[in-house]
Amino acid sequence: MPIRNPEVKYTQLFINNEFVNSLSGKTFSTFNPSTGKKIADVSEGDKADIDLAVTAARNAFKLGSPWRTMDASARGAMILKLASLMDRDAEYLASLETLDNGKPYADAFGDLKYSAHALRYYAGWCDKIHGKTIPVDGNFMTMTRVEPVGVVGAIIPWNYPLLMLAWKWAPALCTGCTVVLKPAEQTPLTALYMAALAKEAGFPPGVINVVPGYGPSAGAALASHMDVNKVAFTGSTEIGHLIQSQSGTSNLKRVSLELGGKSPLVVFDDADLDEAVKLCADAVFVNMGQCCCAGTRTFVQEGIYDAFVKKAKEVAAARKVGDPFEEGTIQGPQIDEVQYKKILELIESGKKEGAVVECGGEACPGDGYFIKPTVFSGVSDNMRIAKEEIFGPVQQIFKFKTLEEVIERANATNYGLASGIVTKNLDTALTFAHSVKAGSVWVNCYNAVVVQAPFGGYKESGHGREMGEDGLKEYLEVKTITIRIPQKNS
Ligand code: ADP
Repeated sequence: MPIRNPEVKYTQLFINNEFVNSLSGKTFSTFNPSTGKKIADVSEGDKADIDLAVTAARNAFKLGSPWRTMDASARGAMILKLASLMDRDAEYLASLETLDNGKPYADAFGDLKYSAHALRYYAGWCDKIHGKTIPVDGNFMTMTRVEPVGVVGAIIPWNYPLLMLAWKWAPALCTGCTVVLKPAEQTPLTALYMAALAKEAGFPPGVINVVPGYGPSAGAALASHMDVNKVAFTGSTEIGHLIQSQSGTSNLKRVSLELGGKSPLVVFDDADLDEAVKLCADAVFVNMGQCCCAGTRTFVQEGIYDAFVKKAKEVAAARKVGDPFEEGTIQGPQIDEVQYKKILELIESGKKEGAVVECGGEACPGDGYFIKPTVFSGVSDNMRIAKEEIFGPVQQIFKFKTLEEVIERANATNYGLASGIVTKNLDTALTFAHSVKAGSVWVNCYNAVVVQAPFGGYKESGHGREMGEDGLKEYLEVKTITIRIPQKNS
């Protein structure tokens, strides 16, 4: 059951297993997007605090430290303990997420379970990561040893605060790295509670640090730090560019980027209409449209286009928008005023450029940052709503004729995070899956992001993969050890 007004227990920075004020003493406010009212003041970290946190993480990573000498299996057990603590406090954590982020409680609860699942998945990998022996030329025995990359800076967004935390912590801890996490300034609360749970789970001081603060100060300090070995970033493409250049102008730290998207979801004439409309609505409206892999470009083949648009309008208009703590609500507010205004401005641009508003197209009356589920039909590829990431509950429906045409249009974007196709024809599905330039292709489903499979982008949607076995590589160095074999024994 949701807790309507969960108590905010932690508002300070978490460094070296202690909650502390920022060195500057500054704080910033975090707001409830359902009302626009302040929830709490949180310590605001900046460069000096990041320095302290990185030093703590570096000390925890030193050879001979409790963390480095711990058996891999014990590390796994500790990660499992953290997942169990999340389950123990699931209702509280999910409620805190709903309060700070505005997502419906059922979704926050689902995110929490999925986050614990990610931790458990990687807990199992801890003692199964190993190198190879290689039959090299010459009189040598060569083996590779995989080692943790070191201190990881994790910078995460506000759309899935718990989940993005888990996606960074799980592989980092699994491989034996230490972490400094900077949560998004809009949603710092669940990360701070997770820090307390990490301490309770037994992680040694410095292994996990959480420094809330703003991007250009705390975030940039982490991304450009000379003693951070890797930055794992999820956020906008614009900031992704900055993160990569901050690595280039500092110590060439490793960077993995999971950025924006404008993902195509293509529906062919042979699809079951009702199922396809529902699938496309869920693909775009999930999490108030604040999802990097949202299927925002709905391409519909001409034979079913009119019927599809009619039903899409009905399905969108029937979505229950409102109080995210109320049972049955499937759409809460947008995260803040900045995003709210940006979405409304893009909706206006769609109207001006001649797209047809089938439903919504405006804000909901009253407090908070609520926007009506919006469906645009008659969208053409050169409109701003066809090209720019809206990050709101806005579906764009395009008409197409042939497979070749739609593949070309689907790929005509700088993004390449995800894609989807709805068809009963296997040849069509396979041709699309082979041709589309996107990190994920979902056939007759969408948003099927699972912990065991890699997720990440082509083009300006980023690089590197998270989750699955591939996700481990981002956190590992490979060391090649070559031993000369004495001649007489060869
Ligand atoms: P969004 O547009 O969805 O808010 P951002 O890319 O701006 O996404 O933010 C994602 C994360 O990146 C947040 O934690 C934010 O504080 C951080 N961030 C923003 N600007 C910078 C920056 N210049 N350097 C490092 N991190 C940043």
